[in-house]
Amino acid sequence: MSMSADCIFCKIVTNDIPARKFHEDEEVIAFHDIRPIAPVHFLLVPKEHVASLADCDATHQALLGKILLLAPRLASQLGLKGFRTMINTGREGGQEVFHLHVHVFGGGDTLPKV
Ligand code: 5GP
Ligand code: ZN
Repeated sequence: MSMSADCIFCKIVTNDIPARKFHEDEEVIAFHDIRPIAPVHFLLVPKEHVASLADCDATHQALLGKILLLAPRLASQLGLKGFRTMINTGREGGQEVFHLHVHVFGGGDTLPKV
């Protein structure tokens, strides 16, 4: 599996740095964001290092589907009745960590319309 030496999320995948992981399977981990912007805010992260959604191709189709389908399952496990997903892509898209991840957040009040 491809890893990137300087990537913080690769280090979370390999447990070289700690995170509040609550899901792990062969291809994907989920852990709570260190700077949550909602009462519940977690990240779905493929174990394979892929820099961003813009770096995905047809070989990632099943992985992307799996990650999206995990979002409602894990959100429900954490007690969310609704949630928002967000994928920041590229610097202009607000991405800061260049290892593909899907944000899932919710809890508390209804989220503002976007
Ligand atoms: P981006 O802006 O790239 O879409 O989001 C990166 C997210 O990763 C941010 O919400 C940030 O708080 C989170 N994050 C960055 N470093 C760490 C870390 O070491 N541990 C955890 N749990 N979250 C992190
Ligand atoms: Zn990585």
